[in-house]
Amino acid sequence: CGIIGYTGTGGGVLDVLMTGLSGLEYRGYDSAGVAVANASLSVHKRQGEVSALEDALPDGDLDGLAGIGHTRWSTHGPPSDANAHPHTDCEDQVAVVHNGIIENYQELRGDLEASGHDFASETDTEVIPHLIESALSEGADREEAFREAVHQLEGSYAVAAVFDGNETVYAARNESPLVLGLGEDGHYLASDVPAFIEFTDQVVYLEDGQFARVNPSGIVVTDAQGAVVETAVETIEWDP
Ligand code: GLU
Repeated sequence: CGIIGYTGTGGGVLDVLMTGLSGLEYRGYDSAGVAVANASLSVHKRQGEVSALEDALPDGDLDGLAGIGHTRWSTHGPPSDANAHPHTDCEDQVAVVHNGIIENYQELRGDLEASGHDFASETDTEVIPHLIESALSEGADREEAFREAVHQLEGSYAVAAVFDGNETVYAARNESPLVLGLGEDGHYLASDVPAFIEFTDQVVYLEDGQFARVNPSGIVVTDAQGAVVETAVETIEWDP
């Protein structure tokens, strides 16, 4: 139901994600989770409130290069820890959060299972990390793999992904909202502005069919064919 993503040079990735999830609670949800990218991915997710996720986080610092978070409003698979997002591939190379519904997930899942992918949840979303894994194993780089996976999806989605050992957050949307936030020492993406308004009021709205590559140094928006799109930065008037 809600997505937050962050990459930056200032540290505090997990804090930004947890602040973002609190800012998305108003949308309603049944589960919450985060993934933080370091040399490997740290994924933590729980059925229940953001406070339940907080209790499940490891003690001490969980900082990283980049991260994504999610509040889930179940459509496929009941609320449970396993069905909470982020979802990962078999080898934990990529973590994915998604809002919306993948209409053709059964067909995609059948093909992926037939080629050896084991699924850990009952969600429609989990096909996405496995599609990415499959493209990576065929030699695609991370961005190509993300794009190839998204091109196979039918339905509505705002989707964001992080990879192990990588500071980039990849995102795409179709019929589900996604907005990018440009900050001082990092950049954000979210389903809605309240997730990051505490950090920045400079935003770029992604449109249906567009992709975004979010790095600490900047954002690049591309169209479905991969051509770079000029973006307009808007200043949000916000009275909390
Ligand atoms: N369809 C996905 C699920 O059931 C995403 C739901 C959402 O938008 O939170 O896990």
